[in-house]
Amino acid sequence: MNALTVTDLTATYGPVRALDGVSFEVAPGCVTAVLGANGAGKTTLLRTLSGLVRPIAGTAHLGGTDLLRTPAEEMTRTGLAHVPEGRGVIAELTVRENLRLGALGAPRGRRGRFDLPRIYELFPVLGERRDQVAHTLSGGERQMLVIGRALLAEPEILLLDEPSLGLAPRVVAQIFALVRDLVDTDGLTVLLAEQNARSALSIADRGLVLGLGRVVADEPAADLADDVRLRDAYLGN
Ligand code: ATP
Repeated sequence: MNALTVTDLTATYGPVRALDGVSFEVAPGCVTAVLGANGAGKTTLLRTLSGLVRPIAGTAHLGGTDLLRTPAEEMTRTGLAHVPEGRGVIAELTVRENLRLGALGAPRGRRGRFDLPRIYELFPVLGERRDQVAHTLSGGERQMLVIGRALLAEPEILLLDEPSLGLAPRVVAQIFALVRDLVDTDGLTVLLAEQNARSALSIADRGLVLGLGRVVADEPAADLADDVRLRDAYLGN
């Protein structure tokens, strides 16, 4: 199990410095919440780590693997899976077919923790709907499908971008509890970018708060949840 180590990561879109010297470390087997208001840089951080945005400076390693020298299409084979915002599925394929696409990214020869029966055990509703086409799923079910698909690639670290967006609190609680379980029982490492700070901190070990592309706090989740000043300035809830 490998730590994620990021130093001085800087990424720009034209004149906008979306990430400005971001450094942090994520210990294996824990959940780190990446928090911050709209535009703080959360999505850019995840996209940079998974090779979709090319930074202008900095380093990022997963154990001995240099993530910034790994092409995005090779990323799942190094053990990093990214679940982007928006729950993109192939609408006209069935749940099972969408899931099987995830397994294509699994590293060859690695012994599997996640196969289809395990995914259906984790998300029983996906098992019930395995033969339904994906566009018939609710938002929460789609979120489960994209997480399940990412797990089939056998990641060591899972990057989750705003999984709670637009979902009912009850569904968010269910998905977050499952993420916590995956960490506790399967030893997964999770980087969870969220505007819903309260829910994210309730399952996180650490919280990293971004403000205009900089790290403004990196603390145990319980301390952050109690920090009124930070909450008012950066978290909005
Ligand atoms: P949100 O929660 O709204 O997704 P975020 O914290 O994920 O916000 P980013 O999406 O990473 O923040 O945006 C960081 C900054 O970069 C913002 O100022 C944003 O306007 C800018 N930005 C993001 N994507 C692009 C892009 N493709 N082109 C130009 N500017 C961008």
